[in-house]
Amino acid sequence: MQIKRGIAVSPGVVTGEVVVLGTEDFRIPQRFVSIDAVETELGRFRSTLDAVWEEIEENERLAREQLGDQFGAIFGAHLQMARDPKLIAEIESLISEKSLSPEYASSRVLRRFARDLQNLGNQYHAERAVDIFDLEKRILRHLLGERREELLHLRAPVIVLAHNLTPSETAGLDREFVMGFATEVGGHTSHTAILAGALEIPAVVGLGHFLSDVSGGEMVIIDGNHGEVILEPDDETLAKYRDLEERVHSVTERLASLKTLPAETIDGESITLLGNIEFPEEAEVCRERGAKGIGLYRTEFLYLERNQIPSEEDHYEAYRKVIAAAPDHPVTIRTLDVGADKVPETIGELAPDVVNPQLGLRSVRLSLHNIPLFKTQLRAILRAAVDGDVRVMFPLVSNLMELRQARMILGDVIDDLEEQQVPFRRDVQVGIMVEVPAAVMLAEEFAQEVDFFSIGTNDLIQYTLAVDRADPSVANLYRSGDPSILRLIRNVVSAAAKHDVAVTVCGQMSSDPVFISLLIGMGIRQFSSTPHAIPEIKEVIRNLTIESAEQIAAHALTLDLARDVENYLRGELHRICPDLVL
Ligand code: PEP
Ligand code: MG
Repeated sequence: MQIKRGIAVSPGVVTGEVVVLGTEDFRIPQRFVSIDAVETELGRFRSTLDAVWEEIEENERLAREQLGDQFGAIFGAHLQMARDPKLIAEIESLISEKSLSPEYASSRVLRRFARDLQNLGNQYHAERAVDIFDLEKRILRHLLGERREELLHLRAPVIVLAHNLTPSETAGLDREFVMGFATEVGGHTSHTAILAGALEIPAVVGLGHFLSDVSGGEMVIIDGNHGEVILEPDDETLAKYRDLEERVHSVTERLASLKTLPAETIDGESITLLGNIEFPEEAEVCRERGAKGIGLYRTEFLYLERNQIPSEEDHYEAYRKVIAAAPDHPVTIRTLDVGADKVPETIGELAPDVVNPQLGLRSVRLSLHNIPLFKTQLRAILRAAVDGDVRVMFPLVSNLMELRQARMILGDVIDDLEEQQVPFRRDVQVGIMVEVPAAVMLAEEFAQEVDFFSIGTNDLIQYTLAVDRADPSVANLYRSGDPSILRLIRNVVSAAAKHDVAVTVCGQMSSDPVFISLLIGMGIRQFSSTPHAIPEIKEVIRNLTIESAEQIAAHALTLDLARDVENYLRGELHRICPDLVL
């Protein structure tokens, strides 16, 4: 059994069989073979080895002829490894004595060799480990042949382990069969993490190097509450986690019964709970969880899901679907926010030569550089608004000029629609994401030109603390409880109150029950959260008074370390809702 610790990004506990996604998406279909099949399987392994040797010899010959002896020597080294009698004997003994499948036995032995080399910790041996992975792939390719399975064609429930999953790969996971996932890289609020929440599957990211220990087919537990991944758990651990799984389940069931109850504090203050969505289908899930509208629709997933830039009709249809699922409630459509970790191939061409994607031509900046693209989306939003209370929100606004330009383009779109006599709605509310420290510093000025603010804590934390939200090596520095973040939020709330501008929090802080009392105590009355978090957020609200929330916020604001703020808030949550801290 091995326990790996990473970053918990989507709650829940799940136990299941592992699929490892390597660069070629190999999946080892079975771990054991029946005892009568052992001889046949050994034969299959030996003929595979023959074919592998032959293939490497051919590569060696071609490399020597076309590139020179030194390149041929690379394959010479591979051949030596593939013929290593100790390695072959170890694989064969796992097949004959433990009845392991040749695929699983080869992968297990080669990955152990690779790991031993990696652990020597120098560049030379790390490169040799890469050669071993190459050999593993070669052997698996021969063994699996036509039987190679890909993630797209799953037929049974699995847990996916991968070095990384891009947001588009995550969006493409088969929701029917993928029960959870864990990745070596990734941070608290990377978009892959946010998508795991949207898919409602337990997930842990930022685990560091661990895939060389796994072949596929093993049992694994993903604990999305505590950020743990347990490989090959023993019976005692399995029993402990089954118990936790049941507790999580019973809390979820109890919270589901809150759906029809109001999101109201003990002393009767009403709080608005909205949902964050990436796909139109999620709007229905938000409604089922008791959301009173959509506070953040991340429309860039329309671009990430396909290889084509969406047409005006594609946008229009998607928006209408969301509006239909949120009747009589506001729907806030955020304009395209690509860049950083969300780069669809189609848009990549519009923003070439990225030096630092987090600080580059992303988000509203990209829209302002590609006006036809921007106008297409704005036209669709205004047309769809005929059917509902639609609001437009611009992301990553960092100065007033950007806001004014975006509003001017919106004005042009209104003129065009009018001239063309296309039905649309002109009086939509216009707001901005407050997610760059510069926008906080100028919040009073912005407040005079917008209808609402939505605080994007994910980016606000990243840009304030200079910590890439998707980088696990600095994940310990990415802190929602940092005193600087609390003060920035307080400044936004006070500027908004002065100019009577509505303010919502829509970053992941609004989906974490730990921070709800603090935010309410600082004056926030509107949250937009990941759908699955809505019931627990409501539970916290229903157990608070405004006075107690204000006291919590006042105390939190006296603390000068993120760690102390977070520990204090965790303790308070435990006192207010003991059930939620599992
Ligand atoms: C944010 O930055 O907090 C936010 C909600 O936007 P996104 O996570 O899509 O960047
Ligand atoms: Mg953001």
